[in-house]
Amino acid sequence: MSDHYVKVKVQLEQMKSFGENAEKEGVPTEEQAPVSSPPASLSPDPSSITIAGRDASDTSITCKQGLNRVKSRSKAGKEDKNSCGKHISDLPLHGNVVSAHVGKNLNRLGHDRTLHIKGTGRILQGKLETNGNYVTVHPSKNIQDARREEGFKLARKRRPVTVDSSKAKTSLEALKLSIKQLKWKEFPLGRRTACDIYWHGVSFHDNENIVSGQVNKFPGMIEMLRKINLSRAVRTMQDLFPEEYDFYPRSWILPEEYQQFSTQMRMVKENDATVNPTFIVKPDGGSQGDGIYLIRDPSDLKVMVGSQAKQAVVQEYIQKPLLIDKLKFDIRLYVLVKSMEPLEIYIAKEGLTRFCTEPYQEPSQKNLSHVFMHLTNYSLNVHSGNFVHSDSQNTGSKRTLSSVLYRLAAKGVDIKKVWSDIIALVIKTVIAVVPELKVYYQADIPPGKPGPTCFQILGFDILLMKNLKPVLLEVNSNPSMRIEHEQEVAPGVFEYVPSPVDEEVKVGVIRDTLRLMDPSHKKPSISHLRPGGFEHGEEIPMEAETQERCQDEGGALPSLCLKQVYPKYTKQFNYLRLVERIAVLFIRFLGVKGNMRLGPTAFRTFIRTCKLSNSNFTMASVDILYIDITRRWSGSMSDSREAGMGLQAFVEAFFYMAGRRFKSLVLKDQVWSLLEQCEAQLESQLGVEDRRSASCSRALPRAIKTQTLGLANPLLSSPAPLRRAASQDYRLHQRLKPRTLRANVEN
Ligand code: ADP
Repeated sequence: MSDHYVKVKVQLEQMKSFGENAEKEGVPTEEQAPVSSPPASLSPDPSSITIAGRDASDTSITCKQGLNRVKSRSKAGKEDKNSCGKHISDLPLHGNVVSAHVGKNLNRLGHDRTLHIKGTGRILQGKLETNGNYVTVHPSKNIQDARREEGFKLARKRRPVTVDSSKAKTSLEALKLSIKQLKWKEFPLGRRTACDIYWHGVSFHDNENIVSGQVNKFPGMIEMLRKINLSRAVRTMQDLFPEEYDFYPRSWILPEEYQQFSTQMRMVKENDATVNPTFIVKPDGGSQGDGIYLIRDPSDLKVMVGSQAKQAVVQEYIQKPLLIDKLKFDIRLYVLVKSMEPLEIYIAKEGLTRFCTEPYQEPSQKNLSHVFMHLTNYSLNVHSGNFVHSDSQNTGSKRTLSSVLYRLAAKGVDIKKVWSDIIALVIKTVIAVVPELKVYYQADIPPGKPGPTCFQILGFDILLMKNLKPVLLEVNSNPSMRIEHEQEVAPGVFEYVPSPVDEEVKVGVIRDTLRLMDPSHKKPSISHLRPGGFEHGEEIPMEAETQERCQDEGGALPSLCLKQVYPKYTKQFNYLRLVERIAVLFIRFLGVKGNMRLGPTAFRTFIRTCKLSNSNFTMASVDILYIDITRRWSGSMSDSREAGMGLQAFVEAFFYMAGRRFKSLVLKDQVWSLLEQCEAQLESQLGVEDRRSASCSRALPRAIKTQTLGLANPLLSSPAPLRRAASQDYRLHQRLKPRTLRANVEN
């Protein structure tokens, strides 16, 4: 064994023990990275691999082994692999560590007769709400015994979980395989009676008549993840937390920010003539690289966009990406938003990497139009003569993430750091889009109507810079779940052939998403069990539960390839959720159910209720502020179905008022202070109202009182810390409303 391999082995061992410690201590920055075992076919020679940024003499990673062109293949056996295509025996997986650790704790807790949540010292018992359902916790029993008992009961009674796959579109193949592995029941043509799970290929609205069960799309996700909206949401967070959100390249929204863009560029160049930045222009509705081009000067944009001035994002181009085999590549990571209330995020331990097919050179006027050099999209590169379809996960133009991380680890890269940076990027991005998603959610699923709950798999596209810093390129609300690819089997004859790499990764992601959403195994998550749970990071024994579950099911399913990162790392990221608190206020004052915009009267009511006007900021100034901001935003919103002030405009108004009131503070503290004030005002008002109403309507049931008082939002009827923590308990229901969507579907 070479020195080199010894080093790698030591690193993997360290990662293992690190994973154990991190799990025990809840350390967020030290995640178990998804590393595969050394691929048998790959003999990385340290001398031929150089990490750019570590060795200045070479800016690329070069593998001696050339890229082999491989034709289509047969399906590989998978019995002894885990869901993400890794041999379980190769690497001590996180899940095993978690199970053992958590199991031990649970047993001990069981003997204590009460459940003490680490770090809170709270005692939990009785009925608790989970995603809208009430469950009973047995405080006096050993938790695991209770679960096992429950599991047996369920197994006896259980009917298979039903899945409506009639709208699954291109994810159908992977979905079918997943359902089969789980021994669930598929309804490919839909079903008259309700199904447990509805799998949609595009949007929440693919099927308009769902009143129960779970749908694999959130309303509004497509809109929120369009390039402009995502850029706006991240920019708001960059204004508040510039350092935390430095993973997203500087972006301008076209055409409205064209002037800003060209002025800033001119100033940059005037300050330093040697600076020669490149920009990438991405049409708002585009996907798969469609309509994307590079420019070096704002004036190129004018020429290229012309008078039509299409909506687009122009973004700083990352000129020095990390290279492997001299090629640029990006990472496709699958992320499950399991629930928005409470926020629950899972990351797939395995992902894909997509490689360019022409060796990379820094952008120059000559190579700007070389798409195979600059754009990593599979849909583009597959048409290059250099594209390599490979059966192997660690060669070819599409590889597993773990095989790439292994290559990097082999060269001594601290991949634990890379992985934890990626996790942080994902959590922060989801936190950025959740506020507006909540507005969409309450519009489509208003309180009082029966409706489904939602979850969604997102596709994060991430680029590693030469210095190994991950950069967010975009988030796809409909990541391609195809497990086959088009291939030229004879000259001019194309046919779909199975793609082993896609199958390994995507079937694992879908199957394990389904396992997590299994309605017969809904369990209270720790964040539900714990009032004020946002304040405390906590380990949730999902993997242990699932393994138990597999035995109940009599199956031999591998351990989950999805890893919970939120609420697990709540402690580290919760402070970023300021805009979400603003969104909760916004929703509180929307008034008419189903609205997404605040009218002038509602805005005034908000100002009055929260006591934000005074002699320096009169109601007349409030009206002017409303008109001013709303007019500006209505011009820039592509989706202006309703008149009034949308969330983004409201956030701007909120920032403005916070700035006026708390001049000496930095923006995030200004906003935090104003939020505290508003929430305290609402709370005290609700207290008064509650007392008043209690005296005149003692006999009214609580639900009716709540409605009478306009307190549909329980956030505002609870003590401040709990209220903030428990936006998760805010239950939203459905209003079925057809939408015309320009969907970004990667299929
Ligand atoms: P699309 O939705 O059309 O795929 P992306 O934003 O993913 O749009 O961009 C397409 C490709 O362009 C990415 O996969 C990546 O290779 C490249 N790219 C995008 N943004 C940048 C950037 N800021 N710097 C460098 N490369 C980028």
